[in-house]
Amino acid sequence: MTHAPIAPGTPTTPRITQMRLSDGRELLYFDDPGTAPRTPLADARGLPGRADHGQLRFDELSGDWVAVAAHRQSRTHLPPADQCPLCPSTPGNASEIPDPDYDVVVFENRFPSLGPDLTELPPTLPWGHTVPAVGRCEVVSFTPEHTGSFGELPYERARTVVDAWAHRTAALSALPGVRQVFPFENRGADIGVTLHHPHGQIYAYPYVAPRAAQLGAAARRFYDDAEGTATLLGSLLDRERDSGERVVLDGDHFTAFVPFAARWPLEVHLVPHRHVADFTELSGEEKDELTHTYLTLLGAVDAMYPTPTPYVAAWHQAPLDAVLRPASRFHLQLTSPRRAADKLKFLAGSEAAMGAFINDTTPEQVAERLREVLAAGKASA
Ligand SMILES: [Zn+2]
Repeated sequence: MTHAPIAPGTPTTPRITQMRLSDGRELLYFDDPGTAPRTPLADARGLPGRADHGQLRFDELSGDWVAVAAHRQSRTHLPPADQCPLCPSTPGNASEIPDPDYDVVVFENRFPSLGPDLTELPPTLPWGHTVPAVGRCEVVSFTPEHTGSFGELPYERARTVVDAWAHRTAALSALPGVRQVFPFENRGADIGVTLHHPHGQIYAYPYVAPRAAQLGAAARRFYDDAEGTATLLGSLLDRERDSGERVVLDGDHFTAFVPFAARWPLEVHLVPHRHVADFTELSGEEKDELTHTYLTLLGAVDAMYPTPTPYVAAWHQAPLDAVLRPASRFHLQLTSPRRAADKLKFLAGSEAAMGAFINDTTPEQVAERLREVLAAGKASA
């Protein structure tokens, strides 16, 4: 949308407008601060009721829950730009967003892996039994523009997305049975993106996801050994900042570094200096710096090669679990399978079957390369 100049005293948080799509799904507009009030248009599509939900099964071999979501096979796959479900609606394309313009929008996924039902999961489930796949999956459209990427958003728009993530984290954490809220972005067709329009997702799991449980358990052990006076990620952050060898960006509130034992050929962690559990605990100043730092980091990642780099941006938030939460610090893990301009790492036998990563790059060289790219960007700016 176009905006008038922001006058003194104008609100600094996005204007939020809530509505329901024609099949009952929730949609929220997050308009940049200072935007005029919005009267949302109705969804005229008359969609049939919510699609069949998936199911959850408990894998006794691993102790992990598995979502079975065969209904997702019919979801939209790389539609042409004029039929994009994330673009604003036009006379020729009644999209998921009924209005002709928006800034940032969040809505319940039409083809969710989890949800729409919400309830507590039992701790386990016997062999041969299933339960509805409870939880919630939301889509976050970062911009009304069909092309581009998060890293190319203007600061104000990216800041609105950060506020949207915080808002949704608070709302989803309060839903019955939700144990973990996970905002993420899959970027690039190489890692399975089914829509080109710049967007991310938020999963509200009814369990602590396996990787989060693994990291959470390590964090809790460290926290107990320190008798609650220190956290694992805080300690690792101190060690990385003291060393400096793998630090890529170092600010007042956040530091980005390639972790000492990076598993992916391109992996950067962005960690807050203060111990916060999730987006909702960040101050306004911290969110401002996070926005700047994240945009800078994504710009550097895309400047490493002649073509945009596929990545997964995973925002790790403390699980909603009394044991794991106090020891778990909010942070970003940005990972890419790209190991050269024209080469991607595939997760093969050792990684896919055993979870044993073999990294084809050294973390120190990747950090050095990112610093070079950032320095070159500053020099040309
Ligand atoms: Zn689009």
